[in-house]
Amino acid sequence: MALALATQPRRSVTILGATGSVGRSTLDLIARAPERYRVEALTAHSNADGLAAAARTHGARLAVVGDPACYRRLKEALAGSDVAVAAGSEGLAEAAARPADWVMAAIVGAAGLGPTLTAVRRGAMVALATKECLVCAGALLMAEVASSGAMLLPVDSEHNAIFQALRGEAAESIERLILTASGGPFRGHTLAEMAAVSPREAVAHPNWSMGAKISVDSATMMNKGLELIEAHHLFGLQQDQIEILVHPESIVHSMVAFRDGSVLAQLGQPDMRIPIAYTLGWPERISVPTPRLDLGRIARLTFEAPDPARFPALRLAEEALRQGGTAPTVLNAANEIAVGAFLAGRIGFLDIAALVEAALEACAGLQAESLDDILAVDALARRRTETLVADWSPSRAGTA
Ligand code: NAD
Ligand code: MG
Repeated sequence: MALALATQPRRSVTILGATGSVGRSTLDLIARAPERYRVEALTAHSNADGLAAAARTHGARLAVVGDPACYRRLKEALAGSDVAVAAGSEGLAEAAARPADWVMAAIVGAAGLGPTLTAVRRGAMVALATKECLVCAGALLMAEVASSGAMLLPVDSEHNAIFQALRGEAAESIERLILTASGGPFRGHTLAEMAAVSPREAVAHPNWSMGAKISVDSATMMNKGLELIEAHHLFGLQQDQIEILVHPESIVHSMVAFRDGSVLAQLGQPDMRIPIAYTLGWPERISVPTPRLDLGRIARLTFEAPDPARFPALRLAEEALRQGGTAPTVLNAANEIAVGAFLAGRIGFLDIAALVEAALEACAGLQAESLDDILAVDALARRRTETLVADWSPSRAGTA
């Protein structure tokens, strides 16, 4: 430990999305080792009070709310402190641009793309939780990582598991990746049962405690589809080299199969602090106060193939990746709108995938080269999906 402290200077850290599930888990780890970490900037969307409390507790230098309407409240909540305050997209950009050694990108959705790119462009170590960045603009983001010399550290538990299994391995020895999926809360449901589920049931994940959007994505299995696209970009493998395997216990977080027939897996409790700590301490392993894995007690780990008939979102993501171009951008944007509409009670659970499919048809053939083009496609796909939601027959809500 003394050796570790001597080799690693105190690391300055910024958390984009500090009030969310991943953000709070990151702050929990930081609070346990104040001698190793100093907080530069923290951001949130609109939870000014939560953000102000975290900024005071962790001695942040800057706190930013994405929603400009929350600026006053944040300013008041931090009155008398040393924390600087900002708001809006410029504020988020400033938070990402500040010279922190390490940045946690944990804003939910493609809203995280701009600040994540800002951190990448200055060559920071970027711990990436926001998978939507890679689905929306994967090729562009990976090109920016390569040209800036930034270090991208995967936080998503599956990708973190693969990242761990690949440590020290040559790219040409990899045969395939096996992404595990819990199957979500409706793994055993029939389509008729799924048609009637409520938002509350959909966000109640059996193994993981997460934000609302990713919880619904896990329930539709769109999450695994997004993760397929994420893995393709992060590890540079072809689509047919990435398999999806349902593993309801969420203990094996993913696997890598090599050309000699060996398969390496990373196992652990379903606690996001484990993959987050792997990126926070990188390249060292740091202590995590999670219950230890007791395989003797768990006794049995099971695996099964995913069912594309009951989880069409998986097929839509596979088709979007195969198609390439702007299809993944549209898939992601449409899914964000459809999940929001489901959470607001405007559409039924099965309508999410149906709307994404309709949006992919409505936005077919769009071209995008630059970041501006991608953002324009993202915005157009959102508008078209909103229109589809508005026209969606109310009688179909919950019964599609
Ligand atoms: P969350 O909803 O709990 O938190 C989201 C954070 O982003 C909050 O701090 C919120 O204030 C902020 N935010 C939301 N909209 C914003 C906007 N428009 N502008 C700026 N900030 C905004 O979400 P989460 O569960 O922590 O997930 C965050 C990201 O990490 C998602 O992309 C998710 O897919 C990914 N992820 C999460 C988990 C998990 O266990 N929660 C696991 C793997 C990957
Ligand atoms: Mg995951």
